[in-house]
Amino acid sequence: MNAPTAAVADDDSQLVFRSRVVQILAVETAVLYSFLALFVGIQPFWVRLVLGFLALSAAFVAFAVRGRVINTHMPGRILIVAAMLCVSFVAYAITNPGLPVLAVFSILALTMAATVLDTYRTGMILSGFGYLLALSVILLRGTNPLAALLVFLGLAVTSSFLLIRQRQFLEQARDTALNLALTDSLTGLLNRRGMEIQVPLLDSVSRRTGQHLACILLDLDHFKAINDQFGHAVGDEVLQTTSQTILDTMREADIAVRTGGEEFAVFCLVLGHDDMMSLAERLRERLENQPAHPQTTASIGAAIGSGADSEAISTLSARADTALYAAKQGGRNTTRSA
Ligand code: GH3
Ligand code: MG
Ligand code: MG
Repeated sequence: MNAPTAAVADDDSQLVFRSRVVQILAVETAVLYSFLALFVGIQPFWVRLVLGFLALSAAFVAFAVRGRVINTHMPGRILIVAAMLCVSFVAYAITNPGLPVLAVFSILALTMAATVLDTYRTGMILSGFGYLLALSVILLRGTNPLAALLVFLGLAVTSSFLLIRQRQFLEQARDTALNLALTDSLTGLLNRRGMEIQVPLLDSVSRRTGQHLACILLDLDHFKAINDQFGHAVGDEVLQTTSQTILDTMREADIAVRTGGEEFAVFCLVLGHDDMMSLAERLRERLENQPAHPQTTASIGAAIGSGADSEAISTLSARADTALYAAKQGGRNTTRSA
């Protein structure tokens, strides 16, 4: 159930992809505005100056995001920019390329700059301001009423997307907060609170399938000595390698938890005692042989029982803990059951 490293790698490639998209959009905007500023005979002249400035800003954004990984949610903002481009081009095609159309282009740039910078409130204010500007221009210059309609359509579309985006942003923040509350920051494994939520789910599966819920507790041997000899940072690395080895060894449906400092638990469904002990022994062997420096081993205690709620989980863990104690007494780097 936990696979932090794979998920992180996946997230990384997504982030790189998103960063490239942002860069491409910024470059496209810069080229489009430069073209309008330099080659389209727009009057009055200050409009061309504004377009030139926007082109430079977009170029600056393109340069600033070059090679950087941007941790943002892209689909919402791609939709915003795509919607603005569509509205702009439709307006451009239907009306004369007058000021309202250019105003729509300006709003596109402002919205894009705001979304790229991840400041949605600023994006809302800027696009509202841009539309007011566009509306004033339309009213003052009395151009095609269709242009006004399109500008308002653009306003509705952009505002909706910004609102949707803001909601996604809040949901994302909530998911991140929930994730932080339920996982251990060093290893990415579930913490005790996460365990209390996930283990009862596994327990209910065990009731349905007739298998048994087992708890395998692992405690690294002489871990304090590793910290003392090599330092806390190296100790942390050993804990991370250990959690990865546990994830690589356990089965996909199993639940891995960092229950404390150098203590881990694997909750799994087993056919019986032998099945449980073979997984426990496999964990012990893999940890003993994992390519970590400094080398470490683990003592393991295992028990079969129930984990329907936090009380049942702690009873099961307590039994596994008794077995773990016996494993420590038995000379460490060994496996016992209760
Ligand atoms: P034993 O074989 O009896 O289990 O001995 P031990 O040294 O592993 O056990 P002990 O409980 O004496 O020491 C556990 C150590 O784990 C002490 C603490 O400094 C260390 N520890 C706890 N959390 C962390 C952590 O997040 N990072 C690091 N680097 N060390 C930690
Ligand atoms: Mg311990
Ligand atoms: Mg220990």
